[in-house]
Amino acid sequence: MKLIGVDIGGTRTRIGAFDAGRFLARRAFPTQGMGEVVAEIRALLSRVGWEAPQAIGVGAPAPMDMRAGVILGCPNLPHWRRVEVVKALREEFGCPVYLANDATCAAIGELEFGHRAQNFVYVTWSTGIGGGIVTGGRVVWGATGQAGEVGHMVLRPDGPSCRCGKQGCLEAIASGTGIARAARELLGEELSAEDVIARARVGDRRAGEIVEAACRALGRGLAILWELLEPELLVVGGGLTGSWDYLGPKVQSSLREFARGDPRVVSTELGDDVGLYGAAALPHHFPNEWTSL
Ligand SMILES: [Zn+2]
Repeated sequence: MKLIGVDIGGTRTRIGAFDAGRFLARRAFPTQGMGEVVAEIRALLSRVGWEAPQAIGVGAPAPMDMRAGVILGCPNLPHWRRVEVVKALREEFGCPVYLANDATCAAIGELEFGHRAQNFVYVTWSTGIGGGIVTGGRVVWGATGQAGEVGHMVLRPDGPSCRCGKQGCLEAIASGTGIARAARELLGEELSAEDVIARARVGDRRAGEIVEAACRALGRGLAILWELLEPELLVVGGGLTGSWDYLGPKVQSSLREFARGDPRVVSTELGDDVGLYGAAALPHHFPNEWTSL
């Protein structure tokens, strides 16, 4: 099946032409608006010699109305405010188009091309924290497609404020943004999460404490998912897994502290492409009852 995957990220957009389980061609470019996506898909189609795709899957980080196929937008996606992405691409390319949350797409990528567990939770650990749930080889969508927003589980009601308006969400404590904020408050310095992790690696005690606290919170969040869903494993992807060799054992140790049994957390083997793989496979997983568009 000739599929196009589109993974719209906060800074970069990835697109790929996908057939028979592999990418024939792919491209990444700075995230702009709908016009650029259409132009890049056209260029990709001519490169692989397709007249049209048979379906398009789109993953995006912003709040969305998945059933209506509309990206609602957020501050870091200024060109994607109330964009009817499904309608626009369907009219442009004359094929079915599906839209889903990028973390759910990443879970689909893991299911089809990653560790291939049938029961797992995928967690994006980046500037924010998102997730997608797969049980029995099927994606858990929830009532409107928002299931798996694990970043907004409240772990500490008196914890730091979250962008969602609540306090002490996993994302507020353990995301890249949360780590940078802890550095600002505890070290009095403007550092990126990567800076803090680099300092911790070389033995800086206070940076180490910030990193430990973030890993401990993530492990605790994962422990809740483990107890709730009894997955085979937990998979973590996203920017911070670039330091998984250092962070992974800390997260695993916290997970073991808070969950029973033999819980296991691994990093994705698909790297930055996990969401693109999932977007391309989204047409196979999108809930049938939502495709009346
Ligand atoms: Zn929150």
